[in-house]
Amino acid sequence: MKKPELLAPAGSFDKMEAAVLYGADAVYFAGSGFGLRARAGNFEPDEMEKALKYLHNREKKGYVTVNAYLKNNEFEGLEDYLHKLSGIKPDALIISDPGVFATARKHAPNIPVHISTQANVTNLQTVEFWHSLGAERVILARELSRDEIAHICKNTSCEVEVFVHGAMCISMSGRCLMSNYMTGRDANAGDCAQSCRWKYSLVESTREGQYFPIEQDERGTYFYNSKDLCLLDHVGELADMGVKSLKIEGRMKSIMYVSVITGVYRKAIDRAAEGNYEVDPEWVRLIKSVSHREYTEAFYDGEAGAESMNYGTNSYVRGCEFLALALYQHELGTVIEAKAKFHPDEAVSVLGPDMREVDILVDKLLDMNGNEQPNTKPAMKYILKGIKLDEGSIIRRHEKGDHKLSE
Ligand code: SF4
Repeated sequence: MKKPELLAPAGSFDKMEAAVLYGADAVYFAGSGFGLRARAGNFEPDEMEKALKYLHNREKKGYVTVNAYLKNNEFEGLEDYLHKLSGIKPDALIISDPGVFATARKHAPNIPVHISTQANVTNLQTVEFWHSLGAERVILARELSRDEIAHICKNTSCEVEVFVHGAMCISMSGRCLMSNYMTGRDANAGDCAQSCRWKYSLVESTREGQYFPIEQDERGTYFYNSKDLCLLDHVGELADMGVKSLKIEGRMKSIMYVSVITGVYRKAIDRAAEGNYEVDPEWVRLIKSVSHREYTEAFYDGEAGAESMNYGTNSYVRGCEFLALALYQHELGTVIEAKAKFHPDEAVSVLGPDMREVDILVDKLLDMNGNEQPNTKPAMKYILKGIKLDEGSIIRRHEKGDHKLSE
């Protein structure tokens, strides 16, 4: 069995570093134009060049999304952009629009193309179609079952990529106009307002302002709100099928999210390569510890039924709060960047790139001039006196009852 690639999201340079530290083989990110995720931290050309150097020095790959669907007047500048990318040499372009695909083959023929999940590839014939036009890889729609994925992998020489973790759309991938209709924000230009997560009521046409609750059942009215995908149980099976790449969704997610989810799937892929794949309960604890909307396997077993929806709430659940990121060693201890407030005397836990989580007690918190501080303030740097943590370690506070020590 060939190990599938682990592909993680990189919404910014520091998220890319986190993904690499926690075991990604490749990352995907957008440039400042023509990619989805208009609100994710897209990379300017200089930064993209730096990112690709960083990745290639570590024998990792970087794919650039150019996956917006364009209108006639939006093609202006695309050729120049592709020429620039041609010089920077990402390992692939992720494209949905056939017009963009044709332009990329002409103006950046040295860069392989991966067909984006936004292109809704749901069958073998379409995989072969794109492959015959020169696509190196197809990222399948998230709505395919195990049998459909296996059939495609068995019958094509095209590389197949599958989403294994992250947010799902209520509509077929890439075919939703809800956000566009309700807010003018275009989901196919990366600007989705997530209208499917909103709370809905019924209004009678002559009684403006009177909201009648719609109750499908006692849990509420979030009838479009899908749970998040998690195919952790099936990593061994997907690897056996010959899936080339397992993809994690979430360029808008935090460094903690990218680190934890990437680290867990790294362990899973390595375990799958050893044979007799089994999920370690610790991995499940970890993926539940980051912000998510409850997990579902969605279409993997066939139809995604009512159990794949989150009718009760549109909020996220999480097991812990991201307090700080370990940056580097200092003569007095470890320098951290705070993400939230915490006190030196509270018990917090540290999760390192080896995916071991331990509790620590910080004796003294110092500012960068060595002065003792009573607590952290977000976005400031501090030194944890006398404590040695690996770069990229995540300091976090577990919600009540979920602390590592109290389990
Ligand atoms: S509104 Fe919801 S279903 Fe539609 S594109 Fe946005 S996230 Fe997907």
